[in-house]
Amino acid sequence: MTSETQNPTHSGELLLDVQNLHVSFGQTQVLHGVDLQVQAGERVAIVGQSGSGKSTVIAAVLGLLAGSGRVTDGSIRLDTGSTDDAGNPRGEAAFEELTELPESGMRRIRGNRIGLVPQDPSTNLNPSMKVGAQVADALRAHGMRDKQAINNRVVELMTEAGIPEARRRAGQFPHEFSGGMRQRILIAIALAREPQLIIADEPTSALDVTVQRVILDHIQSLVDERGTSLLFITHDLGVAADRCDRVIVMLNGQIVEQGDPQQILTDPQHEYTRKLIDAAP
Ligand code: ADP
Ligand code: MG
Repeated sequence: MTSETQNPTHSGELLLDVQNLHVSFGQTQVLHGVDLQVQAGERVAIVGQSGSGKSTVIAAVLGLLAGSGRVTDGSIRLDTGSTDDAGNPRGEAAFEELTELPESGMRRIRGNRIGLVPQDPSTNLNPSMKVGAQVADALRAHGMRDKQAINNRVVELMTEAGIPEARRRAGQFPHEFSGGMRQRILIAIALAREPQLIIADEPTSALDVTVQRVILDHIQSLVDERGTSLLFITHDLGVAADRCDRVIVMLNGQIVEQGDPQQILTDPQHEYTRKLIDAAP
């Protein structure tokens, strides 16, 4: 591993490699050949207006394409070899082709390789299950067995995700939390799996502006501390440039531009990127 000799949060080793990804829903093609790489420890943003295909890219990566959605061409490779399933370094890369994995394999990937912080904190929690139990489920999916250790870790993770009085609040139900607090529960659940990659799909768009900033700060400090890679989906180019090492601009199911955030902001190459910059507040 070269991570010690470089930026500790960005080891420069390829983690996720998406090539020529085509996705259709029924007869309608919505991704037309997307190429996307994320290095270990890198923070990458995907920016683009609603409907451009951002969520479809990550649904394909996670094996969660809804309805008639399917990958019709291309490859999605994840390096699962550089760490074992408990997250310990093994020292060599080994890529798995996710488009060829059975559902059981994709559950393993979602269980301990890629953590998703979804857009809407109200639809992604089980309303009839105490939130602590939902974090505990994620820990068990990651292989933890000892009940006391799980309980302690639940409180730790909820606290890290910024939930005050976590021990008491672990016994409450989702409806007893505000939108911002529910989003933090989803962050705790994502962290419970100690993933190599966290994908956050517009994690703040359901929240008011001040809560958005707090949530983003939180995700950022957590991935920085852990050296976890981040794939951050947003329609806001300013937020993306602020928080990520690289920005990818999508339009109509294709990547139109990608690069260093400052370079994109000061010298955009594509007309659509210039429109995004002009539209920014
Ligand atoms: P974004 O996340 O950038 O807003 P999406 O990936 O959600 O964009 O959508 C890309 C395109 O795919 C849109 O035209 C959308 O209507 C279509 N789409 C997304 N999900 C489905 C689905 N389950 N069934 C049919 N079409 C879908
Ligand atoms: Mg979306």
